[in-house]
Amino acid sequence: MKEKRARTKIVCTVGPASKSKDVLSDMMEAGMDVVRINLSHEDHKSAKETFELIRSIDDTIPVLFDLQGPKIRIGDLKEPIELSPGDELVISIDDFVGDNTRVSISHKELPQDVRPGDTIAINDGIVRLRVKEVRKNEVITTVTHGGRISSRKGVNIPGIKISCKVPTEEDIRDVEFVAGLEPDFFALSFVTERDDLVRLRYLIEANGLNGTGIISKIEHRLAVEHFDEILMESDGVMIARGDLGIEVPIEDVPILQRKLIHRANIWAKPVIVATHMLESMTEEAVPTRAEVSDVAHAVLDRTDAVMLSGETAIGQDPVGVVEMMSRIISKAEGALPAQDPAEITSPDKKIVEIIGNLVYNAVCLIPDKIDGVITATRSGYTARWISKFRPATSIYAVTPSIKVLRKLRLLWGVEPVQFEHDIDNVDDLVQESVRIVLEKGTSQ
Ligand code: PEP
Repeated sequence: MKEKRARTKIVCTVGPASKSKDVLSDMMEAGMDVVRINLSHEDHKSAKETFELIRSIDDTIPVLFDLQGPKIRIGDLKEPIELSPGDELVISIDDFVGDNTRVSISHKELPQDVRPGDTIAINDGIVRLRVKEVRKNEVITTVTHGGRISSRKGVNIPGIKISCKVPTEEDIRDVEFVAGLEPDFFALSFVTERDDLVRLRYLIEANGLNGTGIISKIEHRLAVEHFDEILMESDGVMIARGDLGIEVPIEDVPILQRKLIHRANIWAKPVIVATHMLESMTEEAVPTRAEVSDVAHAVLDRTDAVMLSGETAIGQDPVGVVEMMSRIISKAEGALPAQDPAEITSPDKKIVEIIGNLVYNAVCLIPDKIDGVITATRSGYTARWISKFRPATSIYAVTPSIKVLRKLRLLWGVEPVQFEHDIDNVDDLVQESVRIVLEKGTSQ
């Protein structure tokens, strides 16, 4: 069998720095398990090229399309502007090229959504404004935290539910476009309630994309409040710490991360921890000590996956950053503390969950006698409930479906292997699964 890889999975965002056959192949070799195409930054033509390139290299690697949701942006600026505390900045819903006194905004309902005293954050919350006055077409603000902003920077209005349905009109067009390809997952940005997922699920089915997984990005205060109902309606969640750290007090993020991972673990839903994990490696060869600790702590918190964004999309060494992440993960996994299964058992106590628990107990009792666990699966369901207990052995999920195989690659510790053809007889199924696993090892 092939050498065992890190068990916590690595999601990498593809972008100008990584959009080539050589770089992507090396990233796969270094430990990339899932590729993310961020539709906030790629138009349809470029996204299709990226998708086809990935599939031409390896058709077993899953592709996640990240739908941008109601992301608000300022409009174009003549040149980057520097704002200082006390400056007045007018935000207008009219379209024009802005300067350091007036900027336009993509969210045309802004005057309806904010009140005097509200905060508006620009550029990942670096620049902060306080609303002074609301007029028909514009909002007058005072700068409270200064800084530099350039064209089309992101805007957050912390704590406010903006008047815009998720998925947005643009997301709908994106799903229709992606329907021509064969995506494995959609990530939905700025989910705030269960109905957002119901609408996306309907859209996915209407476009003939049944079986495509939905990952809810938890990046709004209301998504935290409604987390359990969102989790139940999703196939997985992403703790999108970039926007989350603006929408809730930044110091709450580490504790929320731990709590949300725990809730997702209970229901065997894959969870991805995202953003700023090895951010400094976008420009530097070595991460900061704090970043190394952050990745290790996400593993120790029992996340299924960690994500790289700018590091692999625009960074100076996308392959090196994946290698670094794999090394940190492997080290941290060696120190993963045992967990009492009772602490993560769901209130439902489904049969499949009892099986997962029994597998875990067996591996704990006779670790030297178990080289791996094999689960033959059509839907991936059993593999999910075995993975949730984090047994210290390989979990081989043998499936006839390439689509299921790809989705399984997001799950902690699961190494999917494909049957060449479907088998109905259970004895044959078991024998053939063992033969395939011994012969092929993992799909990677
Ligand atoms: C985030 O906000 O952390 C995130 C992952 O979303 P995006 O990259 O789309 O801003």
